[in-house]
Amino acid sequence: MRYKLCVTLLLIALAGCAVDSTRVPADALVIRNGTVIDGTGNEPIADGIVVVQGDRIVAVGEAVGIEIPPSAGVFDAGGGAIMPGVINAHTHSTAEPAVRRAFLTDGVTTVCNVGTSIDRLSRFEEGSVPEGLSARGFWAGPIITAPGGYPGPVYGSQFSYEVATPEEARDAVAGLLDGGASMVKIALAPGDPRDPWPILDLRQVQAIVEEAHSRGALVRAHVFEPYLVEDIVLPAAVDVIEHSPFPILSAEEETSVLQSDDPPTELFDIVAPEFERLLARVVEQGIVMVPTLDAHIGTLYEKTDRSRVEQIVVDVHVEAVRRFHALGGALALGDDYGANPDVESGMPLTEMKLLLAAGLTPLQVIEASTRNAAFVCGQGDRLGTLEPGKLADIIIVDGNPLTDLDAMDRVLAVIKGGELARSAN
Ligand SMILES: [Zn+2]
Repeated sequence: MRYKLCVTLLLIALAGCAVDSTRVPADALVIRNGTVIDGTGNEPIADGIVVVQGDRIVAVGEAVGIEIPPSAGVFDAGGGAIMPGVINAHTHSTAEPAVRRAFLTDGVTTVCNVGTSIDRLSRFEEGSVPEGLSARGFWAGPIITAPGGYPGPVYGSQFSYEVATPEEARDAVAGLLDGGASMVKIALAPGDPRDPWPILDLRQVQAIVEEAHSRGALVRAHVFEPYLVEDIVLPAAVDVIEHSPFPILSAEEETSVLQSDDPPTELFDIVAPEFERLLARVVEQGIVMVPTLDAHIGTLYEKTDRSRVEQIVVDVHVEAVRRFHALGGALALGDDYGANPDVESGMPLTEMKLLLAAGLTPLQVIEASTRNAAFVCGQGDRLGTLEPGKLADIIIVDGNPLTDLDAMDRVLAVIKGGELARSAN
């Protein structure tokens, strides 16, 4: 008897996420006839189905042998890919529902705003566009910074939440999270070293992290300078690095890199080998990176006649992310929409292609764009993968993005919270 029970339990375990036909509810929506790419990084299911009940996913698995109750709704994926909605984890200017509508139409079911003014936050909740027709919006609110610090000198103080002491820093975090923020954004940006802006100190950032973590929120830091990663991000246990740090060079070092036959190797292996050791510590501590490559090099990347210097800029940025990934670092997709006017709304395909160029496999690019992006936005338990219990934010794309990433630009249907938000049919 005991043996039989063990065998039964083993079989259940081996079945994994297989769909039990007796569990397809009579009122389910069944999405079938497609390859399921679930966002977890698991291999795709060639002929898969996703079962949705209400606003939740209840089962995911192989279609074979599954009986669908006649009363259930059926959505035919037409042989395309069935995937989680894409999440853009680093945006600005996405408070307006109309902007989020443009994202949803293209298959981006969630956007995370990591820097906006407090007076625009109400628009995350209200607007002329029905909730079902705009991407979900999560926000950090104003960026916590030192008095007079970034982003004030660049974008104006309405995007800043200035704090001067650890106590003020804790109060800022508490106020933002109590007010509905899902994450905390801080700036560690000294700007021009000849005339630096003030930045938060370690004690202030430690207070921010402690307060945020005690309330279950992650802290995301705008940071480029390696010394700030070493002196503040690592010891304060910040959760996410926004943008992609790379070595700061002296004029002589810069000349040496520019004259090199292989600039990325010269930069990372010869001029600044300690940078890679720093990346390894970032990886070891489990800090996720949202490199926002499109905002930094997207225009150059898409240019066909790059100058040598432009090519070096592209290569160095991509190489920094490639090395982080090769060390085992987790990446999440965000393209800084709203901060750089060249970054367009909708499917962040350029960012995806840049992650691909940095050595991620297409499956890893999708994981960065779904599961990891949900995680850094504090939504990892609700969004980002096709798994039972998650909210049913699902897209159908025409083709197989694992062999042709351009398929991500051919979104046939968008389901948000179990409701069809857009369909090409
Ligand atoms: Zn940004």
